[in-house]
Amino acid sequence: MTQYGFLGLGIMGSAMAANLVKAGLEVTVWNRSPDKCAPLTALGAKQGKNPREVAAACEITFAMLADPAAAREVFFGPDGVQKGIGGGRGYVDMSTVDPGTAATIAKAVSAAGGRYLEAPVSGTKKPAEDGTLIILAAGNTGLYEEAAPALDLMGKMRPFLGEVGQGARMKLVVNMILGGMLTAFCEGMALGQKGGLDGSKILEILDAGAMACPMFRGKGALLLKGEFPTSFPLKHMQKDLRLALALGDELAQPLPSTAATNETFKRARAEGHGDEDVAAIFRVIR
Ligand code: NAP
Repeated sequence: MTQYGFLGLGIMGSAMAANLVKAGLEVTVWNRSPDKCAPLTALGAKQGKNPREVAAACEITFAMLADPAAAREVFFGPDGVQKGIGGGRGYVDMSTVDPGTAATIAKAVSAAGGRYLEAPVSGTKKPAEDGTLIILAAGNTGLYEEAAPALDLMGKMRPFLGEVGQGARMKLVVNMILGGMLTAFCEGMALGQKGGLDGSKILEILDAGAMACPMFRGKGALLLKGEFPTSFPLKHMQKDLRLALALGDELAQPLPSTAATNETFKRARAEGHGDEDVAAIFRVIR
């Protein structure tokens, strides 16, 4: 039976790995803070000692890590994936990183005799739990096919976008639009409510027109309550805006509105809201 590894059991990784285990796949999990492995081992997963051992023991190892620094640390660090991958084994990094990080890790995987697929995801905690993520795959086509049964337990679609880097680029485009939409939405809600309009009426009217969207519906409910339980940590959104702006620099694509959005998110982080949900951007806007 195919052995799968899963590295990184944060909000997203824990839900994604759970879907693999619940479907009966043999999964070995690892997380930097080992206590997060307990719910997965309770479901039937094995617990790995370090990324190297997991990558060496599994035909396909998935990773879902915070940011480029974490992705590099888990791959290149002592007892990292680099030392365990080889023999044609597969490494599927689903973290949101920049195209440069994806390309660097891809090159090192090939040099070690392994195969690499990048597969960042669109969708948040609930789609991760429901197995309805949108998986933005790019890289090794053979690995893409072999990983498909597991990817289909985590996502509802898995477009293949070509060369390594295209998954990261697509993901950054999605999230820079998301960040901009959310900021404009929060500004509109703040302005409307200060002008005496009822918040739920604003949501109802938006929802009836061309701007109706699940994001405004879901985050709008949080704005009305003023509570922001974390599905997508605000600090990760700011990281994605930063990475999108760097891509804009590289390609000489002006992104003035994304730059302004990034400043608002930086302020929210500086004011201590980084671990709250992305919708907590409302706290610094209103
Ligand atoms: P999270 O809850 O903050 O989890 C981050 C994970 O990365 C944890 O397992 C953490 O380990 C690990 N990590 C951080 N730094 C590390 C390091 N230096 N070495 C080893 N492990 C490290 O984040 P998340 O929401 O699951 O997001 C994971 C990735 O998916 C991010 O790239 C994010 O941008 C992306 N994403 C998130 C969402 C969402 O809605 N949440 C949606 C789409 C994409 P510890 O437990 O030890 O801290």
